[in-house]
Amino acid sequence: MRTAPSPCRPTRPGDPVDTDVLIVGAGPTGLMLANQLARRGVRVRIIDRHAGPSRETRALGVHARTLEIYAHLGVIDRALELGKIGTGGNVWANGKRTGRIPLGDAGGKITPYPYILVLGQDDNERILGDRLRDGNIAVEWNTELTGLEQHADHAKATLKMPDGSLHTVRSPWVAGCDGAHSAVRELNGIAFPGAPYEHVFYVADVEMTGTMVPDELNAYLWRSGFHLFFPMRGTDHWRIVGIVPESLRDRKDLGFDDVVPSIQDESPSALSFRTCSWFSTYRIHHRAANRFRDRRCFVLGDAAHIHSPVGAQGMNTGLQDAYNLAWKLALVVKGRAPESLVDTYAEERMPVAKRLLETTDRAFRVVVSDSWLAGLLRTHVLARLASMAMSNPRIQRAAFLTVSQTGIHYRDRSLSTDLGGLPHGAPRAGDRFPWLKLRLRPGGPAEDVFALDDTRFHLLLFGQALPSSLPSYDGLMETHEVPDDPANDAVLAEAGIAKPSFYLVRPDGHVGLSGTRLDAGDAVRYGRRLLLDASAS
Ligand SMILES: Cc1cc2nc3c(=O)[nH]c(=O)nc-3n(C[C@H](O)[C@H](O)[C@H](O)COP(=O)(O)OP(=O)(O)OC[C@H]3O[C@@H](n4cnc5c(N)ncnc54)[C@H](O)[C@@H]3O)c2cc1C
Repeated sequence: MRTAPSPCRPTRPGDPVDTDVLIVGAGPTGLMLANQLARRGVRVRIIDRHAGPSRETRALGVHARTLEIYAHLGVIDRALELGKIGTGGNVWANGKRTGRIPLGDAGGKITPYPYILVLGQDDNERILGDRLRDGNIAVEWNTELTGLEQHADHAKATLKMPDGSLHTVRSPWVAGCDGAHSAVRELNGIAFPGAPYEHVFYVADVEMTGTMVPDELNAYLWRSGFHLFFPMRGTDHWRIVGIVPESLRDRKDLGFDDVVPSIQDESPSALSFRTCSWFSTYRIHHRAANRFRDRRCFVLGDAAHIHSPVGAQGMNTGLQDAYNLAWKLALVVKGRAPESLVDTYAEERMPVAKRLLETTDRAFRVVVSDSWLAGLLRTHVLARLASMAMSNPRIQRAAFLTVSQTGIHYRDRSLSTDLGGLPHGAPRAGDRFPWLKLRLRPGGPAEDVFALDDTRFHLLLFGQALPSSLPSYDGLMETHEVPDDPANDAVLAEAGIAKPSFYLVRPDGHVGLSGTRLDAGDAVRYGRRLLLDASAS
């Protein structure tokens, strides 16, 4: 079930605080957090120092895990309408196509969205901003966070208002979604260790023709570097991403025409450029904050981690940081969970950011290295490996799980408890519960488990009846005694789910508690770790 944003209680005079959560930054991360908190009934204020929404495309690839979250938010149809589905990725070396990853085949059983949706960051922000307005929440533009004081039960934020005056806001929680130069991070003295890369990237949105496979991603590997071509909305519209040639790196007034010769040199006859509507260069860094929470404040998205754009992961990771924090923070704000629950945001998301930094850094160094050996590695070894990997379904599946972010798990974290006894290969605590269509009621239709209400916990029981005295987590948990029938059995067998087994799924779709036969006491004990009232009902 998809829930519409629930109206939030407005702040009243005399309230000890001005809002429940102050969100600093209305980029994709801040907008996602505001939406997720608002639909859980939390009062939010969201500010941004810019005059209005960004018009720059910047990030372009929306991955399957983000699209699953968009479906819960009720914006998936709009995203699919505005975006362009990239069904495959092609690798070219020295002008010859050496392999193709068919994304639909690799991810078709993993997610309802087995592709990359090419949808610009500006469109993502517009969709998220419109959804927020449906809940009567407007971004406060031209409003900048300039000061921050932490107190025992709230933070006091100083805002520079559109007319230049200073205004103080008291809020129990402040979410820093304010990008790479985050004021929330800096005002809290949170270190942001890492380093810049020496290379300068460029992005260009162009109308052109060439050898590229239409509607698919095309990666061209050369001795001297690489070019990525992303299909954009419209005919012959492509986003090109490349590295500025070393000889041009220090030029201040660089334009697309300056880099065209370096693209043409690699493929002189095949590419023909008509117009360029946007050209931008940027230096990138790889950095991660050494804390994602400081007392009443959090950092998320680019404020918490920045990395190379290899794999188009940046925006998607920020959106999922917000989804991870939102349900926890909402329970704390509503007085239903202890404050310690929000510590698990950092515990779960910091390792994801760290792994992403390591993998994108490794991949980046191979694709940008100027050395002769790296050139050979790119055009021979990497291209050959890509073509071999692409004909192996297991490697394709593993690559899809990584790039689409559907394979991210929180196993071995404090909110993940597996009681043991599940067969090897079965989903378990910490995993994203798999995408299944199951008959949840005897004789009922097959239902998509991803359509279950993501503001609640769901207990799925297979091959067993509901135990008596099961807690309802004060109305927060729905139970599903999945009937034994041949259609369900076939779906479960394919997913590696044995009987008897049970899965307690958190609001963000990850399994919290898993095991074979459920004892009500296990559910009570698990609930006590994250909720204030997890008693039997
Ligand atoms: C040229 C370019 C190309 C890119 N391409 C890709 C790509 O292909 N794929 C990908 O995944 N990622 C890409 N990225 C990265 C991607 O854009 C970021 O990961 C994404 O924008 C992060 O979103 P965010 O909401 O965390 O931060 P941001 O989008 O940076 O938003 C932060 C917001 O906070 C506001 N703000 C800052 N300070 C304050 C303050 N003190 N008070 C109030 N408001 C404040 C800013 O105005 C801004 O609106 C690219 C980035 C660039 C620059």
